[in-house]
Amino acid sequence: MKQHQAGRHVDIIGFPMDLGADHRGVDMGPSALRIASIQPKLENLGYTVSDLGNIIIQNQEKQKVKNPKLKYLDEIVKTTEILARKVEKSLNAEHFPLCLGGDHSMAIGTVSGISSYCKKNRKDLGLIWIDAHADLNTEETTPSGNIHGMSVAVLLGFGNKKLAELHGFFPKIKPENIVLIGLRSVDPGERDLIKKMDLKAYTMTEIDRKGIGFIIDKILKDLKPRVQHIHVSFDVDSIDPITAPGVGTPVSGGLSYREAHLLMETIAECGCMSSLEVAEVNPILDSNNKSAEITAELVASSLGLRIL
Ligand code: MG
Ligand code: MG
Repeated sequence: MKQHQAGRHVDIIGFPMDLGADHRGVDMGPSALRIASIQPKLENLGYTVSDLGNIIIQNQEKQKVKNPKLKYLDEIVKTTEILARKVEKSLNAEHFPLCLGGDHSMAIGTVSGISSYCKKNRKDLGLIWIDAHADLNTEETTPSGNIHGMSVAVLLGFGNKKLAELHGFFPKIKPENIVLIGLRSVDPGERDLIKKMDLKAYTMTEIDRKGIGFIIDKILKDLKPRVQHIHVSFDVDSIDPITAPGVGTPVSGGLSYREAHLLMETIAECGCMSSLEVAEVNPILDSNNKSAEITAELVASSLGLRIL
């Protein structure tokens, strides 16, 4: 059915990045999501939509790994800065930026742009990070050197300076305004940082015990009165790989199809999400674009699609 979102304009920004991850193919994520009709799905909800195309990122064949603890750092810094500027420009125009990844290093750019916009407009920023992983490694703790596992740490101001100080300032977010949901694969260094920073982290165990509905209600009840901009960063590996197999770093025991929808529908009902990104769709590992289709449906749910 068609629900009208009068006056809301969505900017789609593609970020075909696979330099931050081990399994190749996530650079095709933005195409897979476009093929899954993400734009018509949003237009059917009454949004006007501009697809701003992809940010140009050099492929791995043209790159060298200079530091195995920070693979492809230079190209990631360069392109996430471009993304930060695009996202900020979209928000300045009072549009809703929807970023399509690409691996989750994308969030370093997206959240930097959003945070800069929030600073200039005196808004407090909240970040809902939906992911099987905490993405809280630094160059000291990383087991892989993959920058997509460092995004949250960097946004908090930890780790490599070029990443942490992207877009000219740091930190990008206050620790009390971050919520991690769906965790089930956390490295020792990440666990330490969650404890040290007292981050709000909801593991799959807690979701099993309390239910995703209860948890997201609680999160929104806490965040909504305290922040004026909520960004949702959705790593598709938060969903169980039985449902969404096309992700670079699958981990068993994730969100079911219905749990993921309830989560996104509840965020939509709150009316408080001001930007969204979806990361880690990997068409090479997918089956008939199933994971991109599910992701496009979840994006529509988070922007107001309802059964009735
Ligand atoms: Mg991630
Ligand atoms: Mg992940």
